[in-house]
Amino acid sequence: MTLPVILAHGGAGAPNEDSDGPQQACEVGLKFLTDGEIDAALRAVVEAAVVLENDVRFNAGTGANYRLDGSLQMDAILATSDGRIGSVAAIERVRNPIRVARLVMDSPHIMLCGDGATRFAHHRGIADDPPVTEKARKRLESALERLKSGKLRPTERKWQGRDMHGTIGAVARAADGTFAVSCSTGGTSMMLRGRVGDSPLFGAGTMCGEHGAVCATGDGEEIIRRLASMRVYMRIAEGMHPQAACETEVAVFPPPYTIGLIAASREAHGMAATDDKMARGVLEAQE
Ligand code: ASP
Repeated sequence: MTLPVILAHGGAGAPNEDSDGPQQACEVGLKFLTDGEIDAALRAVVEAAVVLENDVRFNAGTGANYRLDGSLQMDAILATSDGRIGSVAAIERVRNPIRVARLVMDSPHIMLCGDGATRFAHHRGIADDPPVTEKARKRLESALERLKSGKLRPTERKWQGRDMHGTIGAVARAADGTFAVSCSTGGTSMMLRGRVGDSPLFGAGTMCGEHGAVCATGDGEEIIRRLASMRVYMRIAEGMHPQAACETEVAVFPPPYTIGLIAASREAHGMAATDDKMARGVLEAQE
């Protein structure tokens, strides 16, 4: 028997003072993780993600960033250690993309994107309800202003550039030794309509298998290029402690790009982020 554990984050760069959000997500998730019902790890990471998607401080669901054209598209994924994956990319007009990812998991597909994902969600009874917020509108205005003025942040220089990311995610280990991961994002602040980051891509933004579960946040293109979650997972599979596995990836992640990671293995868990900046939470069941 393994002790159940759940970890959650509110995005690389999200202020550590906002860790009450991910911590509350862990509290909600832990109830599902320990209720003795089947699929505990999966249900835990779904409900933890919903808490964070509903928290306007974090860039996912309510609070998601706008695209440069003023539209709002989101990405989300769920994966389990028994090989189930459900993912949506560039989905619109839903408050909780993670709930749609859960429905995709039970469909014949692994990933639905764009209009197809949105239609699938509404057809399956998810409300047509775009999560627009004033905060995201202001972020877009400021991004457009930076583009116009050329006063770009270091990571925005290849748009010159992009920045202001943020994502939410959770990993869980259930008492039966199974794992699950969830991840949901509004992407970065400077992105074209149709852009898909690392978050909904298995192996890049998330990874889950018999050795554990990993969730990444940060500069999506760089995370994809490095298959960062897969690399952390492989280190864990080779016997490295998840804390060391996360720290190693953070250490080799090329500046100025940033990354945050949470991971659980059979016996342990760990989390690390560039400059240690990432709102985060962790909760382990008591014996
Ligand atoms: N990785 C996300 C993306 O690129 C953003 C983030 O995690 O901060 O879409």
